[in-house]
Amino acid sequence: MSFNSFGLSAKILRAIAEQGYTEPTPIQSEAIPAVLNGLDVLAGAQTGTGKTAGFTLPLLQLLSTSVGSKNRQIRALILVPTRELAAQVAESVEIYGRYLHLKSTVILGGVGIKPQIDKLRRGLDIVIATPGRLLDHVSQRTINLSKVEILVLDEADRMLDMGFIRDIRKIIALLPAKRQNLLFSATFSNEIKKLANSFLHAPKTIQVARPNTATELVSQVIHPVDSKRKRELLSLLIKSGKWEQVLDFTRTKHGANRLSKQLEQDGIRSSAIHGNKSQGARTRALDEFKRGIVRVLVATDIAARGLDITQLPHVVNFDLPNVPEDYVHRIGRTGRAGSEGAAVSLVCIDEHKLLRDIEKLLKAEIPKKVIPGFEPDPSIKAQDLKLKRQQQSRRPQRPQQQQRRRRR
Ligand code: AMP
Repeated sequence: MSFNSFGLSAKILRAIAEQGYTEPTPIQSEAIPAVLNGLDVLAGAQTGTGKTAGFTLPLLQLLSTSVGSKNRQIRALILVPTRELAAQVAESVEIYGRYLHLKSTVILGGVGIKPQIDKLRRGLDIVIATPGRLLDHVSQRTINLSKVEILVLDEADRMLDMGFIRDIRKIIALLPAKRQNLLFSATFSNEIKKLANSFLHAPKTIQVARPNTATELVSQVIHPVDSKRKRELLSLLIKSGKWEQVLDFTRTKHGANRLSKQLEQDGIRSSAIHGNKSQGARTRALDEFKRGIVRVLVATDIAARGLDITQLPHVVNFDLPNVPEDYVHRIGRTGRAGSEGAAVSLVCIDEHKLLRDIEKLLKAEIPKKVIPGFEPDPSIKAQDLKLKRQQQSRRPQRPQQQQRRRRR
């Protein structure tokens, strides 16, 4: 199949060709004709499948071949969960629409609202937005959504995870009843199904396989190591393995900052990316990472969601995630587009329970390899447990604490 068979305009085809895409991905093959036919779409697809072009290309085609209102009211609204994803989708809209005369912008929090208001006032065809800031504009009456023809919810499952459901419903209520709706989600929980049922009309359902599964293209390994020596081991692995582009996950923002600083001290260019960083700082870090200026990007799970970094050779779990599913998301960042990737986890004694949960989810054991010189100190376990036991027996537990323990 080729892009020529969809009936997309020459201007769009030219932009696609300039991106070097020769054939549509499976999600694109199914989504593009459906959207062009005016259907609602319910698509199960993850980052890495080409889903963004799957909705952007036909959306651009529809808008560029029909006439909107005279004063350029917003005709397409793309809602996304995170600032990074908003910026990336906006970039795709720019790229694929570069030969069209459509105007688009991104509306997201963490940056000044005034320039957004100016742009909205001048008139836009397409808005890519995170729900919170969009509603700020709604309450300030600086946005008019009454002419929206196409609504896209991208990474809908993430939006629900992040607690945006009420915001989404509020936004949907402001749109004209007659419109086309596209919902993209990596997973289909009951909540997503409920949301989909509430606003999609006879949708075309599309399900594509994950771009890779944990066990296929990604080689996984666990390096058992003591918590205190993780950083030293990481620096050694990066330097001796000549790893040039490493996405490294930590559990906390503080941990991300600290590790990034320590790596810099070890002579490894590194940046941290997390929710407390300004939008400008995050965009800069991602850009420098993509261009190879920064060798290690240290990220928290939330910050990494939706990051468009393809063919990443190395993903490191400096800390294992608390939620086993996040492990799968994290390592899904490597081994993209047919290239092999390596997912390396540095696991200390305190994380053994997390590791067991991950292996249960994967239904497979991840190979363990102790790096000579970094053997875990067997006495730490004993000390640790002894200390905990001592503390527990010394401290009389309050009922509240007991309850919390039981819940865990
Ligand atoms: P997405 O799943 O939308 O985040 O896209 C993942 C990556 O695939 C992006 O870097 C796109 O530029 C790239 N991509 C999208 N469509 C194609 C295609 N038809 N051929 C090759 N690469 C593509």
